[in-house]
Amino acid sequence: MADLTGRVTLVTGGSRGIGRAISLELARAGARVAVNYAARPDAAEEVVAAIRAAGGEAVALKGNVANPDEAAALVEQTEAAFGDDLYHVVCNAGITRDNLMARIDTAAWDEVIDVNLGGTFHVCKAASRRLLRKRRGAIVTMASVVGVHGNAGQTNYAASKGGVIALTKALAKEVGSRGIRVNCIAPGYITTELTDVLNETVRGGILAATPLARLGDPEDVARVTRFLLSDDAAYITGAVIPVDGGMGM
Ligand code: NAP
Repeated sequence: MADLTGRVTLVTGGSRGIGRAISLELARAGARVAVNYAARPDAAEEVVAAIRAAGGEAVALKGNVANPDEAAALVEQTEAAFGDDLYHVVCNAGITRDNLMARIDTAAWDEVIDVNLGGTFHVCKAASRRLLRKRRGAIVTMASVVGVHGNAGQTNYAASKGGVIALTKALAKEVGSRGIRVNCIAPGYITTELTDVLNETVRGGILAATPLARLGDPEDVARVTRFLLSDDAAYITGAVIPVDGGMGM
């Protein structure tokens, strides 16, 4: 397993779904993990307890990534919690507010853009200052197959995730010469509370369009995140890695 021993790591939305699996996976690789959440402290505390029970180090941090001050505070609190400098960030927090273009209201547009794209920007801005000072580190952002190919009923979500991909590439070009790598994962359909709402017809359509003929597990994304952060991926930056069972090809 790629070694992340001692590396101070912030995982936004690290308390549930894909983020939960990432927090556990990175802790197993030796990282010291700040598990961010927005609304459900119970979920974050469960992840922290599981990491500590396995002998790892973790702390739960409340903060809304869409708020620039709270995003900056998350980075500060991560370093304060572990008494050490930040090394890795996973910008995973994300939401959906799906509707057709004709029916989508401005609030649902703003909320999705503010959390998914704005949150990635605020956290990357605060974190990259720290990483640049040390001239090392790696960031993973979370896009979606929908951010590459689009999806009816998800114009807000698709736009936010397309923005995350562009942000990732631009930032990778800015900070690469300073020893910092920035990569993006584009998951397909992964079984979490975000996709629990899909009805059987939609689920059947997804399976028919997925060569590996199953929905993904959060762990499928977590293992790739661990690899991208680790030194095993030392010559990879600005990449968009699909973890989608072949759906996007
Ligand atoms: P999820 O199960 O709904 O979990 C979302 C996580 O994000 C929770 O920990 C939640 O914390 C946190 N969060 C939500 N809003 C936040 C905010 N404003 N500030 C900080 N944290 C916030 O979602 P998921 O399915 O694991 O998705 C994780 C990421 O993968 C998202 O970016 C999503 O777009 C992306 N993705 C998912 C899929 C999929 O099929 N599941 C596919 C492609 C991409 P609280 O519980 O405290 O609110």
